[in-house]
Amino acid sequence: MAKIAFIGLGNMGEPMAVNLIKAGHILNIFDLVDAPLKRLEKIGASICLNAKQSVENVDFVISMLPAGKHVEGLYLGEEGLLNYISKETLVIDCSTIDVSTTKKLSFEAINKGISMLDAPVSGGVNGAIAGTLSFMVGSSKEMFTLVETLLQDMGQNIFHAGNAGSGQMAKACNNMLLGILMAGTSEALQLGIANGLDPKVLSEIMIKSSSRNWTLEVYNPCPDVLENVPSSNNYEGGFALDLMLKDMNLAMKASIESNSPTPLGAISRNLYSQYSNEGNGGKDFSNIFNLFSQN
Ligand code: NAD
Repeated sequence: MAKIAFIGLGNMGEPMAVNLIKAGHILNIFDLVDAPLKRLEKIGASICLNAKQSVENVDFVISMLPAGKHVEGLYLGEEGLLNYISKETLVIDCSTIDVSTTKKLSFEAINKGISMLDAPVSGGVNGAIAGTLSFMVGSSKEMFTLVETLLQDMGQNIFHAGNAGSGQMAKACNNMLLGILMAGTSEALQLGIANGLDPKVLSEIMIKSSSRNWTLEVYNPCPDVLENVPSSNNYEGGFALDLMLKDMNLAMKASIESNSPTPLGAISRNLYSQYSNEGNGGKDFSNIFNLFSQN
């Protein structure tokens, strides 16, 4: 049993925190929004007035924030948490952010004698609820062994991707492909619908055929093909399209920095960018399905 500060209790952070409480850990929680704090307090977590208070006397700090600027704002600067976290505490950032910010944070943490690692996740909100997330950890091997058991309380597959920043790089590759697959699956389903096919039957066919993929089988973008996915709930909850756009941008940044050709990633990024500019960025990313609609 560990004492943990959990900061950022949105779509992903809240169910991850629930699983830690279920596993018997003691949680200090902080978010800018009240609702998840109140729900978690009911199952035993302690609400803190600010992030600084949450990190007092804990074994681990876990952050699950939207983007790099939020993570940098939380840890760096005069009021940044790295000034208040003890050297005995291990810091795990599970947010999906850019590799350069991750490396900067890791460097600043090392300068203050604090161990910090990147551990972005994959598996979506349902994976967070079920405790089946994949974690991609960037850290030394020694540090990885210190967090592996804790991460198993929230996930099923815990990978050591390499040194600091490697978890974020693996996540950028994963989400670039996820964005491509979601756009491609949407395009194919809409083509079938426009030509008289039932999307449920078409999905069943493709799931058993060579185009099988996660977006078809587990996170289908067409409403009412699957239950308990955002598309069947007016694209509410899940993974905001703007967060997918952020991840596609991270992949493009890495592609430019390494001079790697990523033409399909670039086309898909443009589709998410266009659809976000049309006012659809707050809904789940599977909403890209409607970009290909004839209506
Ligand atoms: P979210 O927007 O639902 O939640 C983020 C939470 O952070 C919010 O509750 C917000 O109030 C809080 N927050 C922001 N700044 C804060 C601060 N300074 N202090 C305290 N709290 C703060 O986002 P999410 O969907 O939970 O995603 C979180 C991260 O996980 C993102 O980096 C995202 O890319 C990644 N991710 C999301 C999914 C998904 O399916 N939603 C899947 C894998 C990875």
